Amino acid sequence: KESRAMKFQRQHVDSNPTNFGPNYCNEMMRRRQMTDGRCKPVNTFVHEPLADVQDVCLQGNVTCKNGQPNCHQSVSKMNITDCHLRRSSRYPRCIYETTQKDKYIIVACEGDPYVPVHFDDSI
Ligand code: ADP
Repeated sequence: KESRAMKFQRQHVDSNPTNFGPNYCNEMMRRRQMTDGRCKPVNTFVHEPLADVQDVCLQGNVTCKNGQPNCHQSVSKMNITDCHLRRSSRYPRCIYETTQKDKYIIVACEGDPYVPVHFDDSI
């Protein structure tokens, strides 16, 4: 079974995008299995080396949106892409807006090794 850490990598890490453009989210949300059964409404991909994303768990501790204490904010801005489901889009046709940004990321971490399991926010 897929671990939470592996799920995080599947959903949120794309270190070397090959298909960057307006269709990035449409393709990647499907390829990374976030359009099976429903269209996941929002999702962020991080375009940095996996080790740099994992290192965020050792960086500034912040409170998560849900009140849990296990979130961490990156010390550096990261290159990310936000995918937002278009309001008019209806399953099984999941159509996304693709927006590239340079922002600090906030992830929730768990386990030993202490690694990212949830993408909380970008600021
Ligand atoms: P994401 O939230 O990254 O889009 P999922 O919702 O599929 O992805 O998975 C988040 C996972 O992270 C869940 O298994 C959830 O229990 C776990 N988790 C651990 N800590 C937190 C937290 N502080 N906030 C939200 N989810 C958390």
